[in-house]
Amino acid sequence: MSYKSIAIDGPSGAGKSTLARKLAGELGFLYVDTGAIYRTVGLAAFRRGIDPSDGGQVTPMLPQLSIEMCYGGDGVQHMLLNGGDVTEEIRRHEISRCASQVSALPEVRAFLLERQRELARAHDVIMDGRDIGTVVLPGADVKIFLTASPEDRARRRYAELSERGEQTCFEDVLRDVVQRDELDSSRTAAPLRQAEDAVLADTSGLTLEESFQLLLHIIEERLQR
Ligand code: C5P
Repeated sequence: MSYKSIAIDGPSGAGKSTLARKLAGELGFLYVDTGAIYRTVGLAAFRRGIDPSDGGQVTPMLPQLSIEMCYGGDGVQHMLLNGGDVTEEIRRHEISRCASQVSALPEVRAFLLERQRELARAHDVIMDGRDIGTVVLPGADVKIFLTASPEDRARRRYAELSERGEQTCFEDVLRDVVQRDELDSSRTAAPLRQAEDAVLADTSGLTLEESFQLLLHIIEERLQR
């Protein structure tokens, strides 16, 4: 039996996770948030006090990590690091940067690649990330490159952080969004870029519901082909 796969890539704060989760619920697909996996590796480096951008320090740590994903009844993807639930902790502002740094290391990407592909071999998946359509699932049935203006994306990220009670200021969040875009797009290992056969969806100025309808339309149309 072959399974369907939908790849959603794009810069941080474009609304990938929220939309992908909602779409997965609608379509009955498994939602895989690959950013959460990189964040878990970033958190592991942070906890050990090692430099997340230094392959010489990060690579020896990888075989010691047990990273698991499990799904609650609510469809939320929980991340377990060496048995402990880190779902909330990996969302912290400082962990975003660690995630972006470890994700630029080819050893980290290689370590996680097969794991992501395995999920797509065993389920209908909607997977979001930076390199799903280009590297992880180049044969995906539907590829979407989701973007929005940096200000729109920073506004969403800021609202998300404030909701979680994290003290930040909008300018910091905007700066972080722009820096992470730069880091993710300029790295040599699987940089953030739109796959040639991906549909570009720009959600600047759209509400969540409008963005959801836009993506659902693209997906339904492509899956019928
Ligand atoms: O999507 P999210 O913001 O949670 O991802 C955290 C970081 O993980 C990103 O800034 C990016 O550097 C990295 N990432 C990646 N490849 C993916 C998913 C995330 O490099 N497929």
